[in-house]
Amino acid sequence: MPSVADILIPLALDNAYSYAVPAGLVLSPGDVVQVPLGPRETVGVVWQVAESPGGSNLRQVTGRVEAPPLSDPLRELVDWLARYTLAPKGSALAMALRLPDEAARGETSRIGVRASGKTPARPTPARMKVLAVTADGTMRGKSALAKEAGVSLSVVDGLIDDGALEAVALAPEPVALPPDPDHERVPLSEAQDQAARKLIGLAFPASEDAKAPTILLEGVTGSGKTEVYFEAVAEAVRHGHQALILMPEIALTAQFLDRFAERFGVRPATWHSGIGSKRRERLRAGVAAGEVAVVVGARSALFLPFSDLGLVVVDEEHEAAYKQEDGVHYHARDMAVVRGRLENCPVVLASATPSIETKVNAEKGRYAHIVLPERFGGRRLPDIHAIDMRLDKPEKGRFLAPPLVNAVRATIEAGDQALLFLNRRGYAPLTLCRACGHRYQCRNCSTWLVEHRFRRALVCHQCGYAERRPDACTECGTFDNLTPCGPGVERIAEEVAELFPDKRVIVLSSDFPGGAERLRAELQSVADGECDIVIGTQLVAKGHNFPHLTLVGVLDADIGLTSGDPRAAERTFQLLQQVTGRAGRGDKPGRALVQTYQPDHPVIAALLSGDATRFYEEEIASREAAGLPPFGRLAALIVSANEREVAEAHGQALARAAEPPEGIMVLGPAEAPLALIRGRYRFRLLVKTERAVDLQAYLRDWLGRGPKVRGNVKVAIDVDPQSF
Ligand code: ADP
Ligand code: ZN
Repeated sequence: MPSVADILIPLALDNAYSYAVPAGLVLSPGDVVQVPLGPRETVGVVWQVAESPGGSNLRQVTGRVEAPPLSDPLRELVDWLARYTLAPKGSALAMALRLPDEAARGETSRIGVRASGKTPARPTPARMKVLAVTADGTMRGKSALAKEAGVSLSVVDGLIDDGALEAVALAPEPVALPPDPDHERVPLSEAQDQAARKLIGLAFPASEDAKAPTILLEGVTGSGKTEVYFEAVAEAVRHGHQALILMPEIALTAQFLDRFAERFGVRPATWHSGIGSKRRERLRAGVAAGEVAVVVGARSALFLPFSDLGLVVVDEEHEAAYKQEDGVHYHARDMAVVRGRLENCPVVLASATPSIETKVNAEKGRYAHIVLPERFGGRRLPDIHAIDMRLDKPEKGRFLAPPLVNAVRATIEAGDQALLFLNRRGYAPLTLCRACGHRYQCRNCSTWLVEHRFRRALVCHQCGYAERRPDACTECGTFDNLTPCGPGVERIAEEVAELFPDKRVIVLSSDFPGGAERLRAELQSVADGECDIVIGTQLVAKGHNFPHLTLVGVLDADIGLTSGDPRAAERTFQLLQQVTGRAGRGDKPGRALVQTYQPDHPVIAALLSGDATRFYEEEIASREAAGLPPFGRLAALIVSANEREVAEAHGQALARAAEPPEGIMVLGPAEAPLALIRGRYRFRLLVKTERAVDLQAYLRDWLGRGPKVRGNVKVAIDVDPQSF
């Protein structure tokens, strides 16, 4: 009997389409195939195959595509992702399928050349230089040979055409060398050793039938969590399984990759949006074939076709960067837990400041919990003190209070490093005309333009719009009245340069000129002690090990507390805990000074007391009282359109169709926190339910009933929004 295959196509489509399978082609679920779609051909994945007498009216599968098939658990993950986020199933598949561009498909083989022994027809001096180099008989790459001989590539090509050089195809370089789990085992501290044993015992139980656990590995900054989970990675590799380590900001983890190489003898394979499509495809093939044992990757690495996944580690699990906020709105930490369940493989969530969700899951016993309460090597956590800005005022027009200036001076005089932290890029967050009161706003977004003094520009941090900073006010035309209001890191750098003119200062933020490569080099030079004062945004707050750093100054601890977002307290606590935790990781103890106008605010008070438990208890209690996640469920619907009225009207029509039953609350539409982005007006509806409610079922039902989306209206669904 002929068979019919349901093929899911990686486009914004909700369901698989049925195709006839031509005689002679045997397909299984997960196979990647080519199919006609409308007037063109496209790639899809077999979701289901059935024998069927009908099907003669269906279009036929064109053929199989050379690509690793999607395993059962990976297809289940796609189904799960679509169901949970309400994204079209095809969009969820696209995450797992990331095929390279047509042009880049297939491997260009590397060519090596060596002398053939034949004399060239025209022995020019350039040609003789090349032959002199090849006389030693070793094989070289073409361009390496041309370079060594000091001639152009065309000379080498000419010799190949002539038969004087022999070209040989070399095997492609492996995407990753196998890590050696016993390459160099660093002696662990007593506490680390206990934690590692417990972790391995939980993650790799003697009985394979046991349900694989999710484990929270919670350890204060500098406690040595990495070495602990490396032991679990080593154990997975010893068992012949694959391991995946997810990281929030992959581009900046050179230090981490070096550490991995020290422990395992080779660098791990890395996966992130920056790698080329050819390499990406080879890596996927290597992962599918089980040849790549360990991948370190950004959130999309979750969708790699591992054939035998034995461990997932989510490092810094609390990081907001794990939430994808466009396209399919998913949280990589949560999906890692789902993938672990589908593969029956253990998942380790590591953090010094776990998310409230994870903390509650650990407390309720849903996750196992391993704690490292102290820093490695007897190092102390930094002493944290507040500078009450109401009492210790900076000089007029300045932002560093006298106690902080003195502390920086003492630190650099002792030969140590100081970090000044301000989570604001640019020079000043707002520019105001003192004559007419005009404030410079983005023309596409409801945001103020941020002055970037080095670039002489006013820039929107939301959409990237930039204009030259005018000399005269564009509204009233007067000169000398434009005033920068408030500081960004560039402005702090200006103040520091005046205070400490002969000191070496580095300013680090994500818009660092020169790109990721230079930024990495600068981070390394900070780690090597080649500067006295670092001024940075959250980019420097996390993960890095700066052994010479003994003082952290937080310029404005209150920045995040006023946003009105119920997650503000958690985010601020995590960030301040992380950044102050940069101090004193080397041989000398560290301290932190925190400039604040509200030293009694619960978040600041908890930070100063060093009592994270207190913060978590209070925050968990207040979430529970308010029915907020993880005690209730939440989704946001963002309705956007090119005209404000259209967006609002659609939001209102949605609200009218909501008809929420008992246990579900629908709020809005209200202007979204950013009411205008890139010229699109945004309104938001919030759905709040009790935990037991099937939120997705309600949303599907509601949207099915709701007004049709017309014109340029878009409705984005964000289940578990990170800011709300
Ligand atoms: P965390 O991730 O918990 O903040 P790290 O894993 O980065 O901590 O470790 C903190 C510091 O201690 C790093 O410089 C690391 O190299 C060092 N360290 C941790 N464990 C060991 C060990 N067993 N032997 C030597 N150095 C270690
Ligand atoms: Zn803008």
